[in-house]
Amino acid sequence: MGGYCFINNAAVAAQWFLDQGASRVAILDVDYHHGNGTQEIFYRRKDVQVINLHADPMQEYPYFLGHKDEIGEGEGEGFNLNYPLRWGATFETWNEALEDGCRKLVDYAPDVVVVSLGVDTFEKDPISKFKLKTEDFPKIGARIAKLGLPTLFVQEGGYAVADIGVNAVGVLQGYEGA
Ligand SMILES: [Zn+2]
Repeated sequence: MGGYCFINNAAVAAQWFLDQGASRVAILDVDYHHGNGTQEIFYRRKDVQVINLHADPMQEYPYFLGHKDEIGEGEGEGFNLNYPLRWGATFETWNEALEDGCRKLVDYAPDVVVVSLGVDTFEKDPISKFKLKTEDFPKIGARIAKLGLPTLFVQEGGYAVADIGVNAVGVLQGYEGA
């Protein structure tokens, strides 16, 4: 509950897809903060691949989790991928991680993608230190659309209240327009 969440909606959705007959689900977490709960829930499982792009825990919450060498355990080994990025990351840097994550996601060949959509990577977010601009968010949606997979977006973080709507809709418009 460190990230204020009592129920992990993305994890519930992923499990629901599996219960409905999906063989594999990928969770792509683009929130600024590491999805420590999601990582923990699926850490020993291979039916859910968890890909996390986030601020480096050497600098940022949750500090003790989200490092690159956390790759899963047992059956889950190799199915947890962390992309910690330093404060000040621009879209260019961030996008390299997204591209690499998307390649790994395609290799995994999931039936469904669940996107943990935080828009607190925004440059004006009051509690975050990445530098993504409003015009970058549609590019994220377009890249996810290019995966060509059924996709569920789950709204997560974002604290620049005046801009959250515009940026979240930007992702969806990029997705729909691609
Ligand atoms: Zn966040």
